[in-house]
Amino acid sequence: MPQLSIAPTSPARDSTNVKDSTSGEPILRLAGVSKRFAQVTALDDVNIDIHRGEFITVIGPSGCGKSTLFNIVAGLEAPDQGSVMHKGATVGAKGLLGQVSFMPQQDLLMPWRNVLDNAIVAIELEGTPRGQARQRALTMLPEFGLKGFERHYPHQLSGGMRQRVALMRTFLFERELMLLDEPFGALDSLTRTMMQRWLLEIWRRHRRTVLFITHDIDEAIFLADRVLVMSARPGKVKLEQRIELPRPRGTELVTSADFVHYKRVLLEALEEESMKSFAPH
Ligand code: ADP
Ligand code: MG
Repeated sequence: MPQLSIAPTSPARDSTNVKDSTSGEPILRLAGVSKRFAQVTALDDVNIDIHRGEFITVIGPSGCGKSTLFNIVAGLEAPDQGSVMHKGATVGAKGLLGQVSFMPQQDLLMPWRNVLDNAIVAIELEGTPRGQARQRALTMLPEFGLKGFERHYPHQLSGGMRQRVALMRTFLFERELMLLDEPFGALDSLTRTMMQRWLLEIWRRHRRTVLFITHDIDEAIFLADRVLVMSARPGKVKLEQRIELPRPRGTELVTSADFVHYKRVLLEALEEESMKSFAPH
């Protein structure tokens, strides 16, 4: 695997900043959002506020509407009820299409495009001339551990590298708010841990607001300022847990008493929900 640029000496995010950022107007507000697909109620009265610079993770049993939530924010689906507000303004029928960086759960790369040209897809669509787009992508390659792989095609890459290309595409499309739907879902746990630390470093440097879906509790805690636990379908926000762990976060953190405490709280909430999915209807 190529060297990822993790800077262990990076200054800690001041935890007081994180607290301060939760006052004032949220960058994103979901108010009473509900969504049905035929007989299935995917989301029921979802309320979420996200503040500038926050890293929010969302966990919940499979099928509880996490991806639907993102699709609504990204403008790929319309809510049946409720509203989405972005920087204080109500978002119309098109959602935030073009205004957020979005990495969907099934983010397949185009097999006929090489790494560089896959990375620039979103900014090219936005109107950036191809030469200029490629130049920007080239400067970003080392940070994403892809230097030297620009002419490789997706089938020549490992799962982790493909996900980094997809992430790079999302970062190149420079928007304040990023939605990442299980971006490390396909990775083995060691690669995953490396990618988490690396993502936190990139997040710190690029100063984005991140909404991140995962089904991995450790990942949810390790990354987040706040973890949102969703209930089994119909999806609601069942629990909001603030994570008061110092940054930068290293691997030693996951065995600390505080981390284990958060894990127990979240596991209990999540297990209760997962059991419901198995209960007879
Ligand atoms: P999660 O991401 O939490 O696993 P999803 O948001 O993908 O869950 O799906 C929530 C529920 O909505 C599921 O029961 C799923 O089958 C249903 N669903 C999602 N998208 C559609 C769609 N486009 N058409 C019909 N049903 C859908
Ligand atoms: Mg999903």
